[in-house]
Amino acid sequence: MTLSVVDAAVIEDVADVAPVSYINLVLLGGPGSGKGTQAEQLKNKLGLLHVATGDLFRMNLKNNTELGQLARTYMDRGELVPDDVTAAMVRDRLGQPDAQAGFLLDGFPRTLPQAAALAEILMDMERELSMVLYIKVSDEEIISRLSGRRVCRECQTPYHVKFNPPAQEGVCDRCGGELYQRADDNPATIRARLETYHEQTAPLIEYYQQIGVLRAIDGEGEVSEITTNVLAAVQELIKPKTALKMSYA
Ligand code: AMP
Repeated sequence: MTLSVVDAAVIEDVADVAPVSYINLVLLGGPGSGKGTQAEQLKNKLGLLHVATGDLFRMNLKNNTELGQLARTYMDRGELVPDDVTAAMVRDRLGQPDAQAGFLLDGFPRTLPQAAALAEILMDMERELSMVLYIKVSDEEIISRLSGRRVCRECQTPYHVKFNPPAQEGVCDRCGGELYQRADDNPATIRARLETYHEQTAPLIEYYQQIGVLRAIDGEGEVSEITTNVLAAVQELIKPKTALKMSYA
């Protein structure tokens, strides 16, 4: 991905002024909306910890833990892992030292009860939710993206066989890891995941809009353009430094 001069300027600007210690972000959007791709950018530019619940479940699956075995039954069907299990996993992850400098949640919350659980976790950590970035993508685009998606087994970097292929087929540009197709990126499970998204996750858009923390970003088009818009939204958030700091006094 190449960045234009304007993009690079925005990124530098954000990186220069970002007092990241109090930035706690949520990335909201359907499966394949590009949350992971944008999370990578934000992680690199702002040094935020990237917590993707899907990745945490897949790691447990790979290590054959009890949690992984439980999660598999839901993941294979395109359904959500129960709220209490997921929220406990997130609470545990955010309680670790590397989350103290700010974090970026990707794929959590995905239900209204999970949003309530997150509010509780944040309250216990004496933190506030800084912003929810909602990446808006049509169902049609999601289906096309997920059917061609490949992911690195090692570093989880996403690719697309047509729209964002690696330099060498089947090999990750970044770390040389093997690319694979996720078991849940098949047509039947993609349809089930989209249904789950509309039924259980989409109500969060209105929920966070009412709280006043939602920023909608058009998630279709050039990746670099979307990244510029995401960074511009975050920059808006960090500009009134004094006001934000005061609210934590
Ligand atoms: P993702 O990698 O975000 O597409 O997630 C893959 C699968 O992991 C989902 O289809 C769910 O089965 C499960 N999962 C990920 N995040 C959550 C969550 N917040 N709540 C429940 N299940 C989740």
